[in-house]
Amino acid sequence: MKEKKNTESPNQKSVICGFSDLISVEGLSEKIFDLIENVSFLIFYRSIADHRIAYTNAYFSRIFNLPVEELRNKDYRWTDFIAPSDKERYFRFFEELKTPKYVLEYRLIDGSGQPLWVQEKGTVLSSENPKEAMVLGFINEISERKKIEERLIGSEEQLNLALMASQMGLWDWDIPNKRYTGNGFWTRMLGFKPGTFATDEFFWMSIIHPDDLDRTLRAIEDHLSGKTDQFFMEYRVRTNSGDWKWVWDQGKIISFDESGLPKRMVGTIVDITALKEAQAELLSAKAAAEKASRQKTELLASVNHDLKTPLTVILGAAETLLLESENASKPMLEMIRSNAKRLQKMVGNLLEISQIESGRLILTPSTVRTKRFFDDCESNYTQLAKEKNLSFEQRIAQNVPKTLIFDLDRFLKVLNNLVENAVKYTLEGSVRLEIQYAPEEIGPSQRRNRGGHLQVAVSDTGIGIPSEYLPAIFDRFFRVPSKRSRSIVSGSGLGLAICRELVEQMGGAISVRSVENEGTTFEFSIYVKEGNGAL
Ligand code: ADP
Repeated sequence: MKEKKNTESPNQKSVICGFSDLISVEGLSEKIFDLIENVSFLIFYRSIADHRIAYTNAYFSRIFNLPVEELRNKDYRWTDFIAPSDKERYFRFFEELKTPKYVLEYRLIDGSGQPLWVQEKGTVLSSENPKEAMVLGFINEISERKKIEERLIGSEEQLNLALMASQMGLWDWDIPNKRYTGNGFWTRMLGFKPGTFATDEFFWMSIIHPDDLDRTLRAIEDHLSGKTDQFFMEYRVRTNSGDWKWVWDQGKIISFDESGLPKRMVGTIVDITALKEAQAELLSAKAAAEKASRQKTELLASVNHDLKTPLTVILGAAETLLLESENASKPMLEMIRSNAKRLQKMVGNLLEISQIESGRLILTPSTVRTKRFFDDCESNYTQLAKEKNLSFEQRIAQNVPKTLIFDLDRFLKVLNNLVENAVKYTLEGSVRLEIQYAPEEIGPSQRRNRGGHLQVAVSDTGIGIPSEYLPAIFDRFFRVPSKRSRSIVSGSGLGLAICRELVEQMGGAISVRSVENEGTTFEFSIYVKEGNGAL
């Protein structure tokens, strides 16, 4: 009968064998047969025991690029066309199949050698001898759907990886159904095994710390009622073991129902317990630091009063006595005077530093007649240098204006410190002071308020500073650790630190150049305003 049909109708070409077992081809109208042959999916009829193909429609040629007659000449089984990676699964599926109807998805290898995802839907036709049972089924291409699914799985995996990497939990709240679900990380964060976490909103509310519950619910309410664009809140949650964890929770409504009521809200949650602990430590450290700072200010205020005043009295008395004293007591008085002076300088420095630190340093600029000021400098410093048999040279640039406005006391503090150091750390040779003026560039209309930088260089031919110590030279309490400089004279290591602070407050900068055993140059500048020349 089969042979007869093949010759009778070109539409029945793909009938290979056995199809007549299923339907009486004679009874099948040509139209129906034509339809079966031309549908855009594959129809097959094959043995279930060895997967031998009895019939496929013409769609076979479209997938495998093979004429259906091929099947007739060769002894093909359906499994010959299945991708190797899916073959085992395919065999196992049929070995274990218990129901007559089934659906299975797997890959074929198409005519161009590429894997092709298909869905097979079949019905096992009962037979007296199970070995002879046949399957009639359809095969649909599902590559597009699979691609979308894979992409979805890919992006979900990506999301999960990103959430895992950022240690972030994800929650999803089905508002009308009161269902609240957390992802794996969220549940693990709370010490629950995934899947053991209750999924109703009451459970979530029940683990919020009682002290945080009200404001958290209020924030949620504000978002649900549209008062806020987003919900975010820091609160504590009770873990499975009963401990409390701080979390940072933020979420947003993502869908509304037909009547505009919130339907679904999603959000992320992060464990911020470590952050909160660090914050608490920081706050207590800050409180302790503030307390220490207050105590320091109080201490310095009392130092100012209780130390500075008697020191001034001792110094005054020592100086008066020195003038009147006999030779025998002179060295003792000299010692009292120099030690009191050192103490006075140190107390002064400490007070200066504390003023700078507390932000209480306020500059008090005044108009300075420059010629008189520099003449005074010259005579004082020449005297100072002479005490150590050093020469002193001073050069003031011609363009320094007659009057300048700046904080004279603070400027002198820096200058005195540098010149005194230059004298202190120079055993022979000279100390030199050079002052230049660099007016700022301005238009003619601004001439009245013109300003500029007073640039000062103090150089000496002293012991110098080893290059490795130069970077630390302006640090507080830093002194070059050399026997030589320490043997010269004692000091506190505060002078240069104060110089830098004052210079910066006065709108300038300070720097140092030095060559060991040759000498040192300190340069600094301060911002000044030009006076009108008259006082
Ligand atoms: P002090 O002189 O009270 O120790 P300073 O802050 O004024 O403190 O100076 C810090 C250190 O810098 C000094 O101990 C000294 O070693 C070094 N120093 C400062 N000026 C000079 C200088 N002109 N020549 C060599 N060393 C210097």
